[in-house]
Amino acid sequence: RDVLLEVQNLKTYYPVRGGFFKRTIGHVKAVDDVSFTIRKGETLGLVGESGCGKSTTGRTILRLLKPTDGQILFEGKEITKISGAKLQKARRDFQMVFQDPYASLNPTQMVGDIIAEPILNYEKRNKKELEQEIKSLLSKVGLPEAAYYKYAHEFSGGQRQRIGIARALALNPKLIVADEPVSALDVSVQSQVLNLLKELQIEFDLTYLFIAHDLSVVKHMSDRIGVMYLGNLVEVASNRDLYKEPLHPYTQALISAIPEPNTAIKKERIVLEGDVPSPQNPPTGCPFHTRCPMAMEVCSKEKPPLKEVRPGHHVACVLY
Ligand code: SF4
Ligand code: MG
Repeated sequence: RDVLLEVQNLKTYYPVRGGFFKRTIGHVKAVDDVSFTIRKGETLGLVGESGCGKSTTGRTILRLLKPTDGQILFEGKEITKISGAKLQKARRDFQMVFQDPYASLNPTQMVGDIIAEPILNYEKRNKKELEQEIKSLLSKVGLPEAAYYKYAHEFSGGQRQRIGIARALALNPKLIVADEPVSALDVSVQSQVLNLLKELQIEFDLTYLFIAHDLSVVKHMSDRIGVMYLGNLVEVASNRDLYKEPLHPYTQALISAIPEPNTAIKKERIVLEGDVPSPQNPPTGCPFHTRCPMAMEVCSKEKPPLKEVRPGHHVACVLY
């Protein structure tokens, strides 16, 4: 299938200010080197511990943040540095579903108006027609049409996330970045929302970048998965290959920590020593070398590039 999004050597740094004059005294290297592609209709999962740069990656490719370096191509067109009207026009095609459906919905607006807002930013519409369209969207996300006249606080967490999804769908986008869309929800409703996202993907011909720290959620949702550590993408593989044969020592440790429901198969858990280093002062060489059980001398000197070591399986590690 065609490539929808291509990201090359993306870097997003935040300035750190300090001292009396609030001068820039350093940078948080939130995204330090990330390259991947997403094909039309697929779901790329992005996984890693909190603070590894997943959300910043998602926000940067939607151009809610300005990249420091690298390239973002959407349908072959460069969107890395566009701004103003050009960016506004491009944004129709990509939307975000946020982690916290409470914080992302305006409590003073009627649900119908929340969903109409992105549409009215782009088009003049007949009021009755628009109302009908939004009601049909509400039923597609599993809410009653009467939800149109209510306020976000009148709904449960899972229902609020359905409203957030309806709003993201309002402009009929091509790409949706879902940033931990179920991690704020009760476990009992998580799978309902995940399954809804899967159904909508087919119905609306959507492509997803699906961000989560929970490996079982990512496994349930993704065709391919990228693993991030300290602002770097360290491994990308198909869902099956990543869980069956993780290559990067960090991925191996993450996967070894998934509780195994079948106690007959006992995997050995790899426990990582130490903490994730500060993204303001990341280690030289391989970003993982301070914690890697396989680290060698060369690992602190040279940063291994992400390379394809088996068909479709990319890893950034000197062992391969
Ligand atoms: Fe470990 Fe070295 Fe591979 Fe980094 S490059 S993951 S430190 S073995
Ligand atoms: Mg996050």
